[in-house]
Amino acid sequence: MVTQTPLDQITDATELFDAVEPKRAMVIMAHPDDCEFMCGGTVAVLTGRGWEVDIVVVTSGNKGTKDPAMTAQRLAGTREEEQRAAARILGAREPVFLGYHDGSVLDNDELRETVVYQLRRRRPELVITWDGFRPGFNHRDHRNVGRATYDAIYPAADDHLYHPEHKLEGLEPHRPRVLLLGGTNEADLHVDIERVLRRKARAVLAHTSQMRGRTEDEMLRFLRERARAVAPADAISPTVREAFRKVVFPR
Ligand SMILES: [Zn+2]
Repeated sequence: MVTQTPLDQITDATELFDAVEPKRAMVIMAHPDDCEFMCGGTVAVLTGRGWEVDIVVVTSGNKGTKDPAMTAQRLAGTREEEQRAAARILGAREPVFLGYHDGSVLDNDELRETVVYQLRRRRPELVITWDGFRPGFNHRDHRNVGRATYDAIYPAADDHLYHPEHKLEGLEPHRPRVLLLGGTNEADLHVDIERVLRRKARAVLAHTSQMRGRTEDEMLRFLRERARAVAPADAISPTVREAFRKVVFPR
């Protein structure tokens, strides 16, 4: 008989991705380009290993411009289109946009209900979001999306008395097994993204309106420098990794 290591004891990302079934993941982010910068490499690794990955974007990033002639509505359309292109590069599914305004995301019942709905609709076993509990600097939208997602997973999404109206649409309670929190100070899971780094760079660059004409080589250099800055001092040639805090939910 094969004994499986409990998920909370697995420290190797590849082993974790192999152990979780079925292979459905959901990335829940505040803005277009959050996914690509924070976990684009991990998404590429997952889709390369046969995972289905959904990207849920809470706002359409409709304030991210310095162009005085740009309107919020036009910018939202542009940024959604860029996010679709980035998702295609990473092999993810068509992104879902929740349509909140940039900078105005609140950690409240409304957002939690919306996230619960998405979790019940797609039934991911792995969820990636922001670490909303990280002390120090953190964009308010990131913090609120991270906290609302955490609370939506536990306890709301799996308890049928939360939002019973979802049942009318045929949606059943669901609890993902694993949550990965990015942008964290307490990383305990590292995903080696060396082999998909160019794909990550291209996916980041698909957000053309935010990139000020940066080239692929410049982006690769930027991602490598950032990786070096966070690597341990004794690492001679650090591979580029994305770092997460892992939370395993009991069943
Ligand atoms: Zn963001």
